[in-house]
Amino acid sequence: MNNDSNTISKLITNKLETTDINTRSLASKVDNNKLINLVLASKEAARNAYAPYSNYQVGAAILLADDEVIKGWNVEYQESTSTICAESAALARLSPNQRDEVIAISVFARNLPKPCGYCRQRLVEFVNDLLVIVADDEGKLELYSARALLPDKRRNKG
Ligand SMILES: [Zn+2]
Repeated sequence: MNNDSNTISKLITNKLETTDINTRSLASKVDNNKLINLVLASKEAARNAYAPYSNYQVGAAILLADDEVIKGWNVEYQESTSTICAESAALARLSPNQRDEVIAISVFARNLPKPCGYCRQRLVEFVNDLLVIVADDEGKLELYSARALLPDKRRNKG
């Protein structure tokens, strides 16, 4: 384990002690090493970001039940409403049979990147709940359940 892994491991352990029971329950279903690798994958993904306007590079990594990791990164356009969020880019890469298999997502950028409102809805669209990790390079990390980020998801029917 390198320094990065050690730091992330400690941050996750510390957060798990103080987080709510629902988030803890989601995290308990995943091996700690997989969560550490997921954070590192999201950090790596951020390097691919195209953010010439904001210079805010965001990486996302989704963990699936079969341990596959799907990465995404933000892509900015001159018209800011066209910008594609990293979470959204990663979710868009899921094949139909992977949509039910999402266990966790890690989002990495400076200043603890919180998913935007659209992405919060996107995160709970396919699965009932999942673990959301946000982390930055300054040694900060937070754990959430996606449902806590969006307690009342939008439904098109019933
Ligand atoms: Zn977003």
